[in-house]
Amino acid sequence: MTTSAPDIEEAGAVLAAESARFASFGWMRGTSGNLSVVVSRDPLRLAVTASGHDKGELTPSDVVLVDAEGAAVAGGRPSAEAALHARVAALTGAGAVVHVHTVASVAMGRRSPGGIVLRDLEMLKGVGQPAHDVEVTLPVIVNSQDMGVLGDRLEAARDPRMPAVVVAGHGLYVWGDTPRQARHHTEVVEWLLELELTER
Ligand SMILES: [Zn+2]
Repeated sequence: MTTSAPDIEEAGAVLAAESARFASFGWMRGTSGNLSVVVSRDPLRLAVTASGHDKGELTPSDVVLVDAEGAAVAGGRPSAEAALHARVAALTGAGAVVHVHTVASVAMGRRSPGGIVLRDLEMLKGVGQPAHDVEVTLPVIVNSQDMGVLGDRLEAARDPRMPAVVVAGHGLYVWGDTPRQARHHTEVVEWLLELELTER
């Protein structure tokens, strides 16, 4: 499967629109965070938002095409975090990955470094879980600047029932089949984190 320029441009337009939405939530402050969408599965290729840009002002060309290691295949400079996006896509089969630095994810990662236990919440349906009689743990992993190390921790800690992982002192990775589903999952996970933060 080849990836043509229009595919990347199209992916860039989707990511720019999604980024503007996340920025409006206050979840991508100071150019933090990044979004990606899988444009080819074999070989694995992802379009990732370009590093260093204001996420509320991205254009369709502010996108980088990366390979399974997160290295640029086309476009500008990818964030180092692109490697983790690629790892998540390969590991989970996700079509889109969201990475945001939210206050609630960092605060809850501090409070519950062993994982955030969630149960009896209607909102769990938003990540494909029954609202009752099930307990799921949102994993928390220790941060690293080495994306290989971080990827290994994510792989070891992840709960297949939960399309998200909290990175302590850093933020949140969330995934879904499409950019839209990944956003919905992010909104739900962030809601759950904010609730836990409010209650304790
Ligand atoms: Zn980050």
